[in-house]
Amino acid sequence: MTTTPTSLPLPSDDAWLDWVTERGQEQLVRARALVGELKSEPPSEGLEVLRLWNDAQLALSNAASVGSLFAEVHPDKAVRERAEKVAQDVQKLDTDLGLDTELYAVLAAVDSNGLDADASRVLERTLRDFRRSGVDRDEATRARLRELSERAVLLSQEFSKNIRGDVRSIRVRPEQLAGMPDDWVAAHPVGDDGLVAVTTDYPDIVPFRTFARDAQARRDLVTQFLTIAWPANDRVLQDIFAVRREHAALLGYASWADYDAEVKMIGKGSAIAEFIDRITELSTASAERDKAVLLERLRQDRPEATDIDGAAAPYYAELVRKEQLAVDAQRVRTYFPFEAVRQGLLDVTGRLFGLEWVPVPREEARTWHEEVATYDVSFEGERIGRIHLDLHPRDGKYKHAAQFDLVRGVTDVQLAEGVLVCNFNRGLLEHDEVVTLFHEFGHLVHHVLAGRTEWVRFSGVATEWDFVEAPSQMLEEWAWDPEVLATFARNADGETIPADLVEAMRRADDFGKGYDARTQMFYAALSYDFHVNETDDLTARLRELMARYSVFPYLEGTHMQCHFGHLDGYSSAYYTYMWSLVIAKDMFSAFDRHDLFDPEVAGAYRDKVLSQGGRRDAADLVEDFLGRPYTFDAYAAWLAE
Ligand SMILES: [Zn+2]
Repeated sequence: MTTTPTSLPLPSDDAWLDWVTERGQEQLVRARALVGELKSEPPSEGLEVLRLWNDAQLALSNAASVGSLFAEVHPDKAVRERAEKVAQDVQKLDTDLGLDTELYAVLAAVDSNGLDADASRVLERTLRDFRRSGVDRDEATRARLRELSERAVLLSQEFSKNIRGDVRSIRVRPEQLAGMPDDWVAAHPVGDDGLVAVTTDYPDIVPFRTFARDAQARRDLVTQFLTIAWPANDRVLQDIFAVRREHAALLGYASWADYDAEVKMIGKGSAIAEFIDRITELSTASAERDKAVLLERLRQDRPEATDIDGAAAPYYAELVRKEQLAVDAQRVRTYFPFEAVRQGLLDVTGRLFGLEWVPVPREEARTWHEEVATYDVSFEGERIGRIHLDLHPRDGKYKHAAQFDLVRGVTDVQLAEGVLVCNFNRGLLEHDEVVTLFHEFGHLVHHVLAGRTEWVRFSGVATEWDFVEAPSQMLEEWAWDPEVLATFARNADGETIPADLVEAMRRADDFGKGYDARTQMFYAALSYDFHVNETDDLTARLRELMARYSVFPYLEGTHMQCHFGHLDGYSSAYYTYMWSLVIAKDMFSAFDRHDLFDPEVAGAYRDKVLSQGGRRDAADLVEDFLGRPYTFDAYAAWLAE
């Protein structure tokens, strides 16, 4: 018998604290009960064992989603803290299960003969997870691994709390706002002391470092930005790395990077170092050429300058784009009023993937904040999920842009629900923000489309972690296409964004792609190196790696590792952004650049890549879509353009 699953009802404003607790507890109790049943009375059929395990995993994932989402987005601090507690309980149970020898024995006894491809893969992946958590080690080792996992959760929460809680600001004289857009200036009134506060939150720092003419004010703000969570997180990071080092060593891996890479496309730690060096080499000529242009432009203002750093580069890159590439970002943003962009994104992605986004009024679906917009998702007339767009900054909210799960979709059991959490302007968007919105939406579409599976293991963005960015990076291409943008980008006079402006924007965006790649490889090297080579001075090591991989010099007095959130989330695998981009460029080569809405290619991509979730290895999904294995060719050609 099948029932039609419904969306998860969320509580009224005053009931959140209880709801988060109850949702977390109810799912954890269910997970424990199912595991108990599995151990005491395991079904005789292997498939039934896997199904029971799937139900337990589903309950655990439901609790995990509530914990991790609401710890980051709920406006009420008490609810955020309660959600953190749920996340800790989930992690603890997950660790306990991974080290449960009785449970492992039940699953290891399942005969894979007669299982279909999906069930076999569930079994194989499950047993691999168990081995990776150390279930087959001795008692003392297992006890220590459990301690390390618990400690890792606490450290991770502390790391992100330190970043979230440390919004810094500078106070500047009104004339130091010269160069800033009028609407931004209007939104930043002069205080009683005659000064204006500019914060390190994205809606302030991004335009400020791009447009503010006052070099010292820019430098002061960027320095504050790169010092967020310092010194608190320096110690936390050392502890995180130590926990991971010990964890990997206990399981017999040479480094955390080897342990982590084992379940990714890249396979092993040393391949990360090779990849970083390969991309560094591919991008060097382009990086040096464009950096020379920046420096030359800086010298018009400061003839004595011999180098340009990260506090000046965004400003001069913008000037070069405006003066030499004829793109004025302030003109560009007039075409991107927030509401029109949001609707345009929905229309574009709906048409591309054959999806329908149906707005759900607030009276019918409560959320955690009045600015959250909710839509039901339909595909071929069937409701397949729900999305929530939480797109503006507020106090205590997650500071970056990301997709979070609220519910992972499982056929006939529960509908996929995903949440976009961003920090965009409420008025006009920068084109960068439009690109970010398309990017994050790529994760959301992946989450929903891959939410129609029996196995929660494969539901949503359940693919290898170095592939997850590829669908999002590819969707960014639609935010750069004149015909696509013409469907929604209009200024206050109702004029559509001109195609030649979009073409110029693309050329301008391509400016700096080489040095951006080098900067990305610096971040990737940081994430890899910190997890492989022990050091007592993270900032000193950062300086060395920056000198080797970035083309920009270190900014004195900064400690960017302390607010580089991905050091925790991605651990040694920050290379994945670039790795995914290589594959995104390759997949995009299958589309006709003159007809990005071609339903045949988009449909094949939807069905062969996105809808598959984790059912097959990413390399196989890509090969199925492209009709050949992926290569570096499209990426290298783009870099050389
Ligand atoms: Zn992403």
